[in-house]
Amino acid sequence: MGRKYADDARRPSVWDVDALRRSMDALQVSWSHSVHLLGYLARHPEVAAWDDVAWGDLRSSPPRRFKEAVAANFSARSVDLVSRHDSSDGSTSKLVVGLRCGKKVETVVMRHGTLRSSRVTVCVSSQVGCAMRCSFCATGTMGMQGDLTRGEIVEQVLLAKRVDGRLRNVVFMGMGEPLNNYDEVLGACRCLLDDRWLALGGGRVTISTVGVVDRIRSLAADEPRANLALSLHAPTQDQRVAIMPAAKRYDLDDLLDALDAYVAEKLRELERRGSRKRRNDEKQPLIMVEYILLGGVNDSVADADALGKLFSRAGAAPRFGGRAMVNLIAYNPTPDLPYDRPSDAAVAAFQKAVQAHGVLTCVRITMGSDVAGACGQLLKDTRAPDVEDAVRARPGGKSPRPRARAAPAPRAAASARRGPGGRRRGARVAGLGFGVAAYLAAPGGF
Ligand code: SF4
Repeated sequence: MGRKYADDARRPSVWDVDALRRSMDALQVSWSHSVHLLGYLARHPEVAAWDDVAWGDLRSSPPRRFKEAVAANFSARSVDLVSRHDSSDGSTSKLVVGLRCGKKVETVVMRHGTLRSSRVTVCVSSQVGCAMRCSFCATGTMGMQGDLTRGEIVEQVLLAKRVDGRLRNVVFMGMGEPLNNYDEVLGACRCLLDDRWLALGGGRVTISTVGVVDRIRSLAADEPRANLALSLHAPTQDQRVAIMPAAKRYDLDDLLDALDAYVAEKLRELERRGSRKRRNDEKQPLIMVEYILLGGVNDSVADADALGKLFSRAGAAPRFGGRAMVNLIAYNPTPDLPYDRPSDAAVAAFQKAVQAHGVLTCVRITMGSDVAGACGQLLKDTRAPDVEDAVRARPGGKSPRPRARAAPAPRAAASARRGPGGRRRGARVAGLGFGVAAYLAAPGGF
């Protein structure tokens, strides 16, 4: 039987909701049909083409011109699942996702907890590559190659939902700096949070940033339902600049002021929503601070002390109302990047020194490093056809090593301190982003 609707992946995603709305307004078709169609697609992530839609199951009966216009102008799915890589322990699945432009990004599905009460989190990419060039991050080596549309971001979540229907949380901690693609990330967040569609409200969507100050200031007002995670990674401006070149643009004091403003707006929003319990529960963090421990670079007890002072809950007016949680992430070694993983003992000593200031901390679980799905390992470019290649390129692997890049930052001096030993969860799916591990380490997320 012939196809009723011709699909063309070059058309924008139907989740590009603003474009959909403009199209329906031009046709003078009620918006409610679009709302019901998107609700149907959110419940049926298996739909890949318009002919897969059971139109009779929609909660309204859209007119024929609605169906024809939607099918003629939008894609039911604009991204493809190119390949899937599961970690040996089943905790992590890395999805290589093909975009309309021909480039690829990575999405990571993480399962944590017991089999019965498993919490499933998806880490989505917001850009192809990244302009921020953090020296410890594989994605940063790609440079900036493009922004994803809101539709391409939402569709990553739908692909993940197909892989594991228990999906509960979404974190923007994959490839890219989400706040550098602000409008599209915000648009995607609204689709994810909308009760009629993905219904991931209640603190289940988290945006991570290395610190784009003006956007942090606007985020709490623009989308207060999303959580914020800050990738800090060093307790002083000089140390930040040394490992994160983008930090030159954003002074640490300005960044902390912006976070104070963000938390103040969050507290006002909780008050407006009547969420007194969350507003007043001092043990409930309102900001997550991510800190990657690079062996011999930023993991000394003096660094921990400086970090603890920044986020101390003591005093009459502690930063962020004392509502920050610091997540410590032991670095996931990545080929060609000049850093080492600190020992377990160094991580424990660091945590103890931060906690001495009364700061909430946790140490994240590493997941997905065997599939290069762990923090900072996401990489997709022309020199490595698949992240898997980068993983195999390690000594003893079968593929040639990727071309070396210039050392971007002070070289880690602690090669002798590599790894705490033992197999990490999920190793061989090539890397969850740094923030993801931090998110997973937080009890219940936010
Ligand atoms: S850590 Fe995040 S912001 Fe930094 S280069 Fe990697 S993807 Fe970009």
